Amino acid sequence: MGQQAEKALVLLSGGQDSTTCLYWAIDRFGADAVSAISFDYGQRHRIELECAAGIAAAAGVAHVCLPINTFAALGGDALTDRAINVESGLDDASGLPNTFVPGRNLIFLAFAAAYAYRHGLGHLVTGVAQTDYSGYPDCREATIEAMQTAIRLGMETELQIHAPLMHRSKKQTVELAHDLGALEAMALTHTCYNGVRPPCGECPACILRAKGFAEAGIDDPLIDS
Ligand SMILES: [Zn+2]
Repeated sequence: MGQQAEKALVLLSGGQDSTTCLYWAIDRFGADAVSAISFDYGQRHRIELECAAGIAAAAGVAHVCLPINTFAALGGDALTDRAINVESGLDDASGLPNTFVPGRNLIFLAFAAAYAYRHGLGHLVTGVAQTDYSGYPDCREATIEAMQTAIRLGMETELQIHAPLMHRSKKQTVELAHDLGALEAMALTHTCYNGVRPPCGECPACILRAKGFAEAGIDDPLIDS
């Protein structure tokens, strides 16, 4: 793929982690070589997609939003099924939060890889992490490595998947955002599972986000703006 292989596609959800990854990619590949992709998968909060578009625009990178309207048909998770409320604990049977959408990241990566293939982009960047997060099994390093292998085999490509936050705590992710000059963009991000602005401050996502900023000793521009 030659020169084109040095182009990167960032999976941008509109949240704190993927936004940090966007700035990581810009730092590494240059803004001209970076674009962002989001997925309209019937998520409870449309605000995420609006945030993603705004963040990409502010960063000066191209942004595309692909529709994947199949998750809601699967049912059973609190992110896409409006009949289910977001719970803060873990499900007794699965040991997972009820916001878990089975295979969501795998499906996103597969679609992003297909898009990257079509557009000659050699790198995917995802904000998944296996450290002090909610314990989604499709965020683990082994899963991402296996997915990269599957994509390389299945698409006959040398595509590289980067997960720069994989081993970073929330605190370290905030510090990275600071170092990359991405803090200002944090005011444009959306984290709250209840989809409200200003954030509710009480859901698991809000609590995790607040903990990261507090531990890093940095004010969250979303809260203080
Ligand atoms: Zn919240």
